[in-house]
Amino acid sequence: MAKEKSLRVDRLKQRAKYCCCRYCGSELHVRQIVFHTQAMARIELYCDQCQKIEYGVEKEAYARLLWRRHSSTTSRIWKIMNSVCR
Ligand SMILES: [Zn+2]
Repeated sequence: MAKEKSLRVDRLKQRAKYCCCRYCGSELHVRQIVFHTQAMARIELYCDQCQKIEYGVEKEAYARLLWRRHSSTTSRIWKIMNSVCR
């Protein structure tokens, strides 16, 4: 049981290294969280910025997401620029 738990913590620590928060892109930390409804504490990945439990996405996937969002904004700006200049 204890071994199983530490394996889970190791996995979470590994995940924290290559993942970030999907909402704000911050680093994730392995935190021990005590729920009011549960007697036992759980260990989860946690985002300090959002102050919530966040399983995270891979940093690479997050970067791609940002890029897609950014490039769509750029093309929108171009469209506006073109219509103004004409
Ligand atoms: Zn966050």
